[in-house]
Amino acid sequence: MKVQLKNITKIFPNRKKGGDPVVAVNDFTLTIPDGKLIGLLGPSGCGKSTTLYMISGLQKPSSGELYFGEDNVTEIPPEKRGIGLVFQNYALYPHMTVRQNILFPLQNLKGEDKMSKNDMLDRVEEVAKLVQLENYMDRKPSEMSGGQQQRVAIARALVKMPRVLLLDEPLSNLDARLRLQTREEIRRIQRETGITTIFVTHDQEEAMSISDMIVVMKLGVIQQVGEPQEVYDNPVNLFVSKFLGTPPINVFNGRIQGGKLYIGEEEIADARGKDDMEVYIGIRPEGFIVDPNGKLTCNFESREVMGRDVSIVSNHPESANPIVRSIVDSESHIDFDSDTIRYNIKKSKMFVFNKENEERIFFDEDKLPYHLTQYVEELFHDSLSADLESAQEEK
Ligand code: ADP
Ligand code: MG
Repeated sequence: MKVQLKNITKIFPNRKKGGDPVVAVNDFTLTIPDGKLIGLLGPSGCGKSTTLYMISGLQKPSSGELYFGEDNVTEIPPEKRGIGLVFQNYALYPHMTVRQNILFPLQNLKGEDKMSKNDMLDRVEEVAKLVQLENYMDRKPSEMSGGQQQRVAIARALVKMPRVLLLDEPLSNLDARLRLQTREEIRRIQRETGITTIFVTHDQEEAMSISDMIVVMKLGVIQQVGEPQEVYDNPVNLFVSKFLGTPPINVFNGRIQGGKLYIGEEEIADARGKDDMEVYIGIRPEGFIVDPNGKLTCNFESREVMGRDVSIVSNHPESANPIVRSIVDSESHIDFDSDTIRYNIKKSKMFVFNKENEERIFFDEDKLPYHLTQYVEELFHDSLSADLESAQEEK
């Protein structure tokens, strides 16, 4: 089921008396293609849950419209939308067995949706198999691990065969190992069922690893949409570049002057045709190449050997962070007795941002983001054809 959000805004009265209203979600427009897994990503408080709850119908937008396929569902109550919801805390019924927990949503179906007892039990078995719980059906939630409990919650969300599956930080309560395992599980279940799935998380690695497409949010506003690798490789602003990647991107104060890009007094790259201005220069840790004649000179602090790679910690007076971390090939020739280390920089791993508005400054050799990948074409297809239609009408 394709899901479309059109100019959705949600304004809450401030929880503090007399405070300004909170714009939790601001003019959110997005088309989620049918059958994909979308990661909704951003720091705590950026409006992810509010967006998800509006898709579910648990919260009503202050303005804007929501479509499931061709149906406008903005005014449709949650139980009629055909959604499955999974939260961070599993919220299972503790006195019921796994089977009873999964069965519960089916027993509440009314009218023409009502199912026979046998059909219900068959469906429960089928879904239990999908989440690999068929051998635990008679246990109570307290007799299971966190990961298993979350699988019960997912089964319960799937049992009514939802058109859209919504997951709000479903892995946050699990320990590191289970988190990894359960996220693979979610990916597999999504692939097998083909249900359009929206996965909310503040964890960039989690979102990047399982999503077909990520949506990065900040303060209620979409910053960038794209395939995970594409967004990582081609961030549109400083915020997105800093939010994605571990170890994080290194940020330097720099400037464009006379058509050249500088960090301190060192000329880092050509910037022909660009106006003089103050900039931030982001360099991914993997963007450094050790070179005794390199363009950027940092003060060497320490190194950590990680097998295949070496991680080098240094500092630089123009660095926005206390340390500059690079990850270089373990076969690089490095003079560890020297106080300084010099680098050349891979162009594709360096991004320049206007210091005033923190927007990316694109250079000729940069490819533009939103490269016409399949999803993005699908994403913009509708708005494009709408634009074409209105252009035709104007004629
Ligand atoms: P996230 O899920 O990304 O952490 P939320 O969607 O929960 O963010 O919240 C977005 C913003 O809206 C936050 O500033 C939050 O405090 C505010 N907010 C959320 N729900 C309410 C509410 N019921 N009343 C007032 N403010 C709210
Ligand atoms: Mg939330």
